[in-house]
Amino acid sequence: MTLAVRVVGVGDAFTAQYHHACLLFERDGERLLIDAPPALARALKDLGTRGGELVSLDSIDRVLITHVHGDHVGGLEQLLFWRRFVTQRKCSVYAIPEVLNDLWDGRLRGGMEQLMDRDHHIRKLSLTDYADLHPLEGETARIGPFELSWRNTIHHVPTSALRVRADNATIGYSADTAFDPTLIDWLNQSDLFFHETNLGVHTPIESLLTLAPTTRERMRLIHYTDWHDPETGDIASAREGERYER
Ligand SMILES: [Zn+2]
Repeated sequence: MTLAVRVVGVGDAFTAQYHHACLLFERDGERLLIDAPPALARALKDLGTRGGELVSLDSIDRVLITHVHGDHVGGLEQLLFWRRFVTQRKCSVYAIPEVLNDLWDGRLRGGMEQLMDRDHHIRKLSLTDYADLHPLEGETARIGPFELSWRNTIHHVPTSALRVRADNATIGYSADTAFDPTLIDWLNQSDLFFHETNLGVHTPIESLLTLAPTTRERMRLIHYTDWHDPETGDIASAREGERYER
């Protein structure tokens, strides 16, 4: 039994080449998906075809949403519709309260609230009809076999970075963030961590390259542009289909 993470997607919001950034933590047959990007079913299928156990929307009993930007949450409707109307197995959604409170009104309600029949009678559902909701209050929580800790990042909307711990191993994820040395210190307490890099409000690769070699060795780049070369550079890039064990 070890803590493992599989790389579902490495791309940014504009990618035409990759799946959007997404990670799947696994331990002892239990899973925690980090974010639900658009075309989630396809991203999960592609993950399985690149090695490891096959996964599908039915494999995802727990999903944690880091923030409400479309490239991180655009596949949640697909997951929740599938689980309610096809396989009738509710899943659990985890997020910091600011994110969880915004999911329904800010993202999902328009397409998921109304069920109109052929006579135009409308039945209304809420997010709790689709999923069990778990606000991440405080600083740590246990989710199945995973011990989680989180903290806010610097982004346009409330966003949480994560550390996932099991079996004395910890794997971190920056989620979307500007360059923030205090966040990197926090992530650097992991055995391995994924850090975003991108343009604009995101973290420039040049800033990450100023970090100590021991920090860069523990880091895997994710959420990179289509023109980033993942084969070269002083910091290793995460690749779709990879599985890391710690
Ligand atoms: Zn974002």
